[in-house]
Order: sequence, then C-alpha cells, then structure tokens
Amino acid sequence: MQEIYLRKGKDASIRRKHPWIFSGAIGSDTSSIEDGSLVRVCTNQQEVLAIGHFQKGSIAVRILRFSGEEIDQRFWNQRIQAAWKLRMDLGLLTKDNTIFRLVHGEGDLLPGLVIDFYGGVCVVQCHSIGMLQCILEIVDALKEVIGSKLKAIYHKSKGSLPRSVETQDGYLYGSIDMPFYAYENQVRYSIDWILGQKTGFFIDQRENRKLLGQLSKGKKILNAFCYSGGFSLEALMNGASDVYSLDSSEKAIALTEANVSLNTFEGKHVSVIADAMDYLKELPLPFDIIVLDPPAFAKHLDKKHKAVQGYKRLNAHALRQIKPGGILFTFSCSQVIDKMLFTNTVISAAIESKRQVRILYQMHQPMDHPIGAFHPEGEYLKGLVLYVE
Ligand code: SAH
Repeated sequence: MQEIYLRKGKDASIRRKHPWIFSGAIGSDTSSIEDGSLVRVCTNQQEVLAIGHFQKGSIAVRILRFSGEEIDQRFWNQRIQAAWKLRMDLGLLTKDNTIFRLVHGEGDLLPGLVIDFYGGVCVVQCHSIGMLQCILEIVDALKEVIGSKLKAIYHKSKGSLPRSVETQDGYLYGSIDMPFYAYENQVRYSIDWILGQKTGFFIDQRENRKLLGQLSKGKKILNAFCYSGGFSLEALMNGASDVYSLDSSEKAIALTEANVSLNTFEGKHVSVIADAMDYLKELPLPFDIIVLDPPAFAKHLDKKHKAVQGYKRLNAHALRQIKPGGILFTFSCSQVIDKMLFTNTVISAAIESKRQVRILYQMHQPMDHPIGAFHPEGEYLKGLVLYVE
C-alpha cells in the first residue's frame, strides 16, 4: 500500500476524525498513485493515522479507518453489519415500511458509498473510484449480513462517478422482474431503480411526508416537484380532498400516476406537467397546503448565489398564492446552502410576499441518513413548515 504524507500541522482535522483529506494538506508527491487505490495517511513524522481511498481532486483521500489496520473482508462485513443493525434498531423494516437507506456514506463511516434497501433489494451507488473497486467485497458483505432477506443487489454507479470511469450498471446478485413494489409509511410504491432517478425513490423525505399526512385531512394540496409522488400519496392516504402533483418531467408524472392508481386514489388526484415557477404564478384554485421540494439548485459553491435567488423567487411565488391560513412545506437539498442561509432566504421571500408568516416546524433528513458528528458536510436536507396568515 502506498503512503501519503501530510504537511506539517495538517493532521488536526484527521485527528478530530474528519473523513476527508484535501489535496492542499498533502506534502508528498502523489503523481504515481492510481485513482481508487488504498493509501496509508501519515504525518510528516511518519506516524500512521488512517487508511483511505485516494482519488485526484479537491478531496484527495476518503478515510475508511482511523488506524493503519488492513482493510479486509471482515472490515466490510463489520461496517455493513453496523449499518444494518442501526436500521433494525430504528424499526425501519416492518410490514408497513420496507424502504430505507442502509448505508449513507460518511454518516456510516463508509465515505463514497450509498446503499438503498427496497423490500429485499439493495441498490448500491458508488461515489468514489475506490468504492467501485471494492464492489465485490461490498456484495459479499451484504449477502453475509442480510442473509435470507436479500433478494437482489443492483449496482448503479454510472451517474455518480466521473464520466471517464468505466462501469456497467446491473445486477450483481439475483434479479427482479419489474414492476417491483415496496412500502413506505403503509403506502405501496412501484420502484424502478433501473430507469428511475437516483436509486429509484427519494427515501430521505419519509418523516416529512408523515408530517404532511398529519395535516392533510380534507385539504386541497399542491405537491410541486413531485417526482414519484411520495408527498401526494401520503396526503391522499390521510384524507386530503384534492391533490395536484406537478413535475416538469413526463416520466415523473407517469410514475406518480402509477403509484396513485396502485393505491386506488385516482378520483382525488390531478397531474400537472409544467414548470413549477410558471405554474405558481397563476394557480387554478386556492390551495390549503403547498409542497416545494425542488432538485438541488446549487451542486457547487460557485452556484450558491444564483441558487439563493432561485429559492427566494420560488418561495415568494408560493407564499403570495397560498390560501389565508395555508401551510407551506418548503425544502432545499443543496448541501452548500446551510440551514441558516435557507431560513434567511425563505424569510426574505416572506417579506417580499407581504404575508404574515410563522415558522411552525423545522425539518431535516431522517435517521437513516445520519450525519457524522465530525463531518458537518453530511447535513444536506432542510425544510420549513410555514403558517401563512
Ligand atoms: N418531492 C419528490 C422528489 C423531488 S426530486 C419526492 O418526494 O419524491 C425533484 C423533481 O423536480 C424531479 O422529479 C424533477 O423532474 C422536477 N423538476 C426539476 N425542475 C423542475 C421545474 N422547473 N418545474 C417542475 N419540476 C421540476
């Protein structure tokens, strides 16, 4: 295993167990190290601090273990076992809920790895070349840990790695005939990890959907940026009188409609294919509740300013249009827009809308998307429930 040496004084963050080494902290020549290989991270005094995956770029090493001990099959089994145990302890696998995130990267001490669980099917997504090279060990660990509850493992890393990396999506264990159904909060969903966005479903909104459900009875609801309709289904399940699901993508609306009919809610549901910003300027009816869950407006720091303006405009439109006594669920999943900035942006949208607005609740990512205490960058999803006079 090759070694990299940190510059003098650059060991503080790794000693605090932050899982990334930035390229600027490295003092030795890394030009001969191949992307994806395991490296030992040492101080300039030759003390071994950690082992991680190397990859050229701003984050040069993603730490797997804060010691020099080898990374073997036992390591993968233990980490995946710990992740599985946490989800079982959280009560996430029941008759009514068979969808959860099993591994959430740094939050499960496995930087660069995401594994989502859909009723016995694991969808594995590698965000680093090092993780991609460990895929067979990961597959073996999943088989060992999940045992007879495992139906299939689908590998889907194409969209999450640099384009130059050669990788093939496909089954690495078992295979599944589509359509495939799984449950979240008692609602039945058809999940398609092959053709769907990300791993097939936005698992991170489970608790926030439940909260919407609690407020939905008898309400007229607009679910903007609906994708496969999670918020819509939860609202319908809990007695909403009318739900409008809006997305600019025809495919997303088709997924939503499939899920609506799977749960036999057709009579109370309307689909809209439109740009959310345009639609919000002139609504066909007053809504009691509006949900705004847009895609990340800023994927990088350099887009932050524009993203803030986008969130402000979107929220101002919704706040102007919502019925008096209405409730707005508004989210941002841009990691670079932190909680404070998002709240301030929504507050300035409220000022612009000239409505009286109160914050009823602050939302975030659920417990199967843990944030490493030493890795605040792991926090990405934030949302507000607003009461609009
Ligand atoms: N709320 C969803 C996840 C949203 S993902 C859920 O709970 O599952 C973001 C969605 O926004 C995608 O489906 C994408 O097609 C849609 N989208 C992106 N830009 C849009 C726009 N300008 N207007 C409407 N929908 C848009």
